[in-house]
Formats: sequence, structure tokens, C-alpha cells
Amino acid sequence: MLFKTHIMFSLAVYFLLSYFLLMPVWVLFFILLATAFVDIDIKSSRAGNRWYLRPLQWMTKHRGVLHSLIAGLVLSLSVGMISLWAGFGFFVGYISHLFLDCLTKSGVRLFWPLGWKVKGFVRSGGVVEDIIFVLLLLGNIFVVGKFVLSYLFCMI
Ligand SMILES: [Zn+2]
Repeated sequence: MLFKTHIMFSLAVYFLLSYFLLMPVWVLFFILLATAFVDIDIKSSRAGNRWYLRPLQWMTKHRGVLHSLIAGLVLSLSVGMISLWAGFGFFVGYISHLFLDCLTKSGVRLFWPLGWKVKGFVRSGGVVEDIIFVLLLLGNIFVVGKFVLSYLFCMI
């Protein structure tokens, strides 16, 4: 999936979680950070397009170890040592990214090092992804708009 779709989906997940959990707003930063982070294993991604990431990209395959549950867990626990909410946000962002990539035709080795891939039917950058993106965008605009309107009406 494309960067923009991952960001929109992670935002939607944040809005959904904040409906049930009383979490600090800054957790969203770690959710978005993790969502972007997962694709540093490919240089054509927005997050991976940095010269200093080349050695890492030479050592790992795209959708290899970084696109696995074990990497998400280990990295989130590491971030969680700094702050539990930060670790939670990182985990949510990581899992959100993996979930979307599992819907794609190329799939993800979710249980790396096992070779088995979890695949879907969506082509990255295709029409179905565009539809998913637009629906997520509209949903997020609706939630933010509703929040802003309720805030404005409380002020009156
Ligand atoms: Zn990915």
C-alpha cells in the first residue's frame, strides 16, 4: 500500500481507539511514526528514501523481517521502555501498516522467519486502494469535522 493510504488508515485507527481509550493526543505521533517506519526497507518508499538507510536496505528484503509481527513486537517493546503510551502507539501504527499490507496481492511474511505469506487481492496503487484511500479520507474528515463543530457549539 502507498504511504498516503497507510497514514489515512492509521489516523482512522487512532480516532477509533480514542473513542474507547483515554489516551494522550501525542500517541498519534508514535502511531504515524511506526506506520511510516515499516517501509524503510525499500528505497522507493517515502520513509525509505534516505541515503543513510541504504545499508539496512541491502541487508533486508522489502516486506521481509521489518514487515513481521516479531519486529513490530520487539521494536514496540523497545519504544515502550521509554513510555508505555509511546510503545502502545508504535505497536498500533506497526500493526495498522501490517494489516493493510496483508490485503495486497504481494502479501506479507507476517510470521517471519516462517516463509508463509498472508495475502489479499488489492494491488498497491490500484483502483481498490484508491477507493480505500478516499473512504478513509472522507471518514477522517467527518470525524475531525464533527469534533470541530461540537467544540464550536460548546463555545457558544
Ligand atoms: Zn509496507
